[in-house]
Amino acid sequence: MRIIVPIKQVPETKAVKMDENTGTIIRDGVESIINPLDLYAIELAIQLKEKYGGEIVTLTMGPPKAEEALREAVAMGIDTAFLVSDRVFAGSDTYATSYILSEAIRKQGKFDIIICGERATDGDTGQVGPGIAAFLDLPVLSYVNHFVDYKDNLCKVHRLVEEGNEILTTTLPALLTVVKEVCEPRLPTLRGKKRAKKLEIPVFSNEELKLDNAELGLKGSPTKVAKIFRPKVARACKKLTATDEKSLESSVAVMIEFMKRKMFIVRSSNTKNNMEQTSKKSSILKNLQTVCEQSSSVEKKPFNLMSNYKDIWILAEQFEGRILDISYELLTRAQDLATKRKTNINAMLFGNNIGDQEINKLILRGADKVVFTDAPELKFFLPETYYRCMIDLIERFKPEIILAGATSTGRTLMPYVAIKANAGLTADCTELDFENETGNLLQTRPAIGGNIMATIKTPEHRPQMATIRPKSTPKALPKNERKGEIIRITPPAKFLKTRVTRKDLIKTEDQIPLQNAEKVVVVGRGIKKAENLPLIKAFADKIGAAIGASRDVVDRGWLSYAHQVGLSGKTITPKLYIGIGVSGAIQHLAGMQTAEISIAVNSDPDAQIFKVADFGIVGDLFEVIPELTKQIRLFNDLMI
Ligand code: FAD
Repeated sequence: MRIIVPIKQVPETKAVKMDENTGTIIRDGVESIINPLDLYAIELAIQLKEKYGGEIVTLTMGPPKAEEALREAVAMGIDTAFLVSDRVFAGSDTYATSYILSEAIRKQGKFDIIICGERATDGDTGQVGPGIAAFLDLPVLSYVNHFVDYKDNLCKVHRLVEEGNEILTTTLPALLTVVKEVCEPRLPTLRGKKRAKKLEIPVFSNEELKLDNAELGLKGSPTKVAKIFRPKVARACKKLTATDEKSLESSVAVMIEFMKRKMFIVRSSNTKNNMEQTSKKSSILKNLQTVCEQSSSVEKKPFNLMSNYKDIWILAEQFEGRILDISYELLTRAQDLATKRKTNINAMLFGNNIGDQEINKLILRGADKVVFTDAPELKFFLPETYYRCMIDLIERFKPEIILAGATSTGRTLMPYVAIKANAGLTADCTELDFENETGNLLQTRPAIGGNIMATIKTPEHRPQMATIRPKSTPKALPKNERKGEIIRITPPAKFLKTRVTRKDLIKTEDQIPLQNAEKVVVVGRGIKKAENLPLIKAFADKIGAAIGASRDVVDRGWLSYAHQVGLSGKTITPKLYIGIGVSGAIQHLAGMQTAEISIAVNSDPDAQIFKVADFGIVGDLFEVIPELTKQIRLFNDLMI
């Protein structure tokens, strides 16, 4: 098995600096590390080599200093490494980066599998893995959390999705992006370190790659950084101390009142915004060699006639024939933009045998037209079938903007389609607006672990594509009188060919998926041992909250990785976050600071978590939580 592992060197999150003029990261003088999520890709590659034999090659694109990351990977057990480095590559966005890396991979010959980390902790987009797959025309299996086996050129994996674990098979070559749960990275050995020190690492510049300069760096990047700024994260925390029985009782009572009041305000304001927004609109393969030899680089068509592109589209999602909430959240975002732009809102939906009544829900909530591509092969998301059908719609309808959820589907499909459509994509947008002078979409998103906000635009490519975090927007409300058009499309058989097969879905133990939960109780190392978790679960059950965890809790095996909140875990945007025995390390805050209401319980009055909390109790969680559970029962306060 010949395995390729593209990796990235990233700055230490806290030490980040950005060039205000170019919007690029200043790496000089900043301590750099190997992207923590790439360590899992490296480890899985080593385990596969140990089991099936073969060779592992790693590569990275970056300045000469990025060679350090390659040597670290070699010290862990990777065989060979090369650096892709040239000044003309600087400033590349995810599109140009995927292009350069895919060409570098193509140049070094035959391979069976590419393994990438889920995302890099600096850019935090997760787009480069699917982007490389799109350029090399490979199937992409994202969010892989278990590699089952490899036999007769078929590999079987589990993929982490919102509903649980999908069991998928794919023929090789293919590209996997892996999450932390997939394995436990090993430490470099002394022998490995010695080998890494001596290993000659060739550098590929553009003299070797021979790519057109216009396709590289800032010039070759569809997305441009319009503005960067620092977000405000500090909140005015109302902190009470529970030292004795009396202060414990009273501070818990105040906390419950606080939660009730705040949740009421948040819910009312969401409903009001929702109604206002709704009323604004009146209508509205055998081996890779074969693949790579047959397909040269993706055809790059310039989209000169930008004026041909119109309307705001959403990628609606369904599961087992039921339209998912993210679709309605996207309609709210689309309504806001459509009002400003005075355009229609359309939805694209892929699935099988969904009735008009279900599809009509999208129209009642704001879509003017729903284009439903219907085939048994589209019942569940598969990268190849979905991307071909989506490209077909882009060619037919020429959407000016496409919004999708930052879900396991949206975060895989959108980067793949963006490459195939020669379009720009911005992940995890928190704000969308239009640039007055040009009408370009301004897409604002957190970057570098939430330390920086970047506003991105796509001036010369259409469609402009963006993903939006689930639960960051209220659902559009239905209006019974709304009318719209449903267009049903039966795709041709050639669109439905796939190298990936979905075998099954194992639903997970989580009754409330963390990322979609309105209320989340996050447990930190302060809980001391797994045996104490029932205390937290009892409280979470009382208020109908999902359970999240800090990395330390996951690393100790007290809760599974699916619960991890933070930079290398999930980003959550619940209405209510309650951190219990969580210190509030910057990497944890990166995953929760967009929560609407944040509450902390910690025995350390100076814990960082209080800086991002609206309300906090300084006290022993083993006293505070039982009291909280008791008082909530006492007040019959299940409706927080
Ligand atoms: P600690 O920092 O040990 O904090 C425990 C807290 O519990 C303390 O504040 C303490 O005062 C409090 N406490 C103790 N006993 C009690 C008690 N009886 N009652 C009340 N309070 C009590 N971390 C994440 O969470 N998510 C990530 O995704 C993540 N990604 C990372 C990525 C990288 C590259 C790196 C380097 C680190 C990452 N981390 C992440 C780890 C992070 O830096 C912290 O180590 C981690 O968040 C700490 O977890 P904690 O708050 O549970 O533990």
